Amino acid sequence: MSDPTPAFPPVHVYALAHRCTTCGAEPGQPCDAPRKEADVDNLMEQRHQSGLPQLEWDSLRLMHARRQDAGRRHLERDEQNAPQPADRVPGRRYDTLG
Ligand SMILES: [Zn+2]
Repeated sequence: MSDPTPAFPPVHVYALAHRCTTCGAEPGQPCDAPRKEADVDNLMEQRHQSGLPQLEWDSLRLMHARRQDAGRRHLERDEQNAPQPADRVPGRRYDTLG
């Protein structure tokens, strides 16, 4: 089980907060990635036809790689600048997303 009040938001939230340098999506806007969307649609359709339950897609899947990288780097920077896990105040967030 994961901590209900993590010190940092998940990486896809970080990635979404960055402008995408690949497709030019503004912060908060999804990537313009029709091929990625089509891939996910195909997979969903295959699962549906095979009688498999649908998955909840990680929204990172629909973002361009460079935007994901920007989000990861930002998260790593925040983690490095935050206090050590033992010194953190429970329930407090240490991200710089504002
Ligand atoms: Zn993009």
